[in-house]
Amino acid sequence: MTANLLDYDLEGLAAFCERLGEKRFRATQLFRWIHQKGAHDFDQMSDLAKSLREKLKVSAHVQALPVVSQHESADGTIKWLFDVGDGNVIESVFIPEADRGTLCLSSQAGCAMGCRFCSTGHQGFSRNLTTGEIVAQLWFAEHFLRKKLGRSERVISNVVMMGMGEPLQNYGALLPALRVMLDDHAYGLSRRRVTVSTSGVVPKIDLLAQDCPVALAVSLHAPNDALRDHLVPLNLKYSLSDLLNACLRYLKHAPRDFITFEYCMLDGVNDQPEHAEQLVRLMREFGGTGVPCKFNLIPFNPFPASGLVRSTPAAVAAFAQILNSAGFVATVRKTRGDDIDAACGQLAGDVKDRTRVGERMGAQRRIMLKAIVPPNPGDLKHETI
Ligand code: SAH
Ligand code: SF4
Repeated sequence: MTANLLDYDLEGLAAFCERLGEKRFRATQLFRWIHQKGAHDFDQMSDLAKSLREKLKVSAHVQALPVVSQHESADGTIKWLFDVGDGNVIESVFIPEADRGTLCLSSQAGCAMGCRFCSTGHQGFSRNLTTGEIVAQLWFAEHFLRKKLGRSERVISNVVMMGMGEPLQNYGALLPALRVMLDDHAYGLSRRRVTVSTSGVVPKIDLLAQDCPVALAVSLHAPNDALRDHLVPLNLKYSLSDLLNACLRYLKHAPRDFITFEYCMLDGVNDQPEHAEQLVRLMREFGGTGVPCKFNLIPFNPFPASGLVRSTPAAVAAFAQILNSAGFVATVRKTRGDDIDAACGQLAGDVKDRTRVGERMGAQRRIMLKAIVPPNPGDLKHETI
């Protein structure tokens, strides 16, 4: 097995070059070819010595993920499903806005956290993604979009780890992937523009603060332990108080001076005025000084097995109003890509269905899977749901 160069941050690639008997600085050239130019063929890398290219050909490769499908929404949102083997499919979503291009990435196939309102949680856990599989989503999307839009400079300005999986449960693979995103020789994203979203893996929040303090989003969803225990079972291990203390510690290192709290709005469950009031008291009083934060209210994306219902727009507005009047910024997440099921929590259900179809189709499905190397817009099959 040859090495997948998407598995390495620059330090790892330098160590790999040394193992090949090459100078470490060669890694920078190689890194730029792969990530800045989207190259995967060593023969394309014209400023590398022929001897190095020959060594690379026998010892390394750049492993793209086979694209199962691409769906493009009327609003420009694009969702890709990638095959990661053994019937597992993950997704990435590109969300274009006037001033930015955001890519939402997956960190695991499935998720073990079992949050009640999340279809990835209902699907269960298959496995952690490798660094290469996390980076491959960005590598593919960035270079695909550049070609599609005819742009030579960066298209993706923001990355959010809000796809499938709990990124902090896959810390070992996540960390080098974050370093690739931030590296000026690769994607050069600023720490403020890379967001890790977590359901609250407290020890790993502390590690991230030390190792790579990017922007942090915490999936809160409840203003008290009893309700959060029910909605986010991880709360039984790390209580609200443990979690908020970790947030306060993180803020000392964070690139932003607030934590974003995500709050999935569930009809009659966590969306009542008393929940908002309790949330205000918690955030004002916690730790004596309160928690500097913003709220992102996410209308629940329903799926049948959940038995839950989306809050009414009136309930969401009233909830936001209570937070706003108490001086907190609270935004309601716009639903993007609704027509392609690209919104939070809808993705895994879709994947699961596809996987079942895939099982039925057996070998036929494998033929449908298509490795896109190099990313080429013309090669992709566009489907409408
Ligand atoms: N595991 C991480 C990141 C992935 S989930 C986390 O939980 O933070 C990204 C966001 O989508 C989280 O805030 C999650 O709570 C939210 N989410 C999950 N399922 C949802 C659903 N059905 N409707 C709305 N938001 C959902
Ligand atoms: Fe996992 Fe996040 Fe879904 Fe919870 S909300 S089950 S942590 S992906």
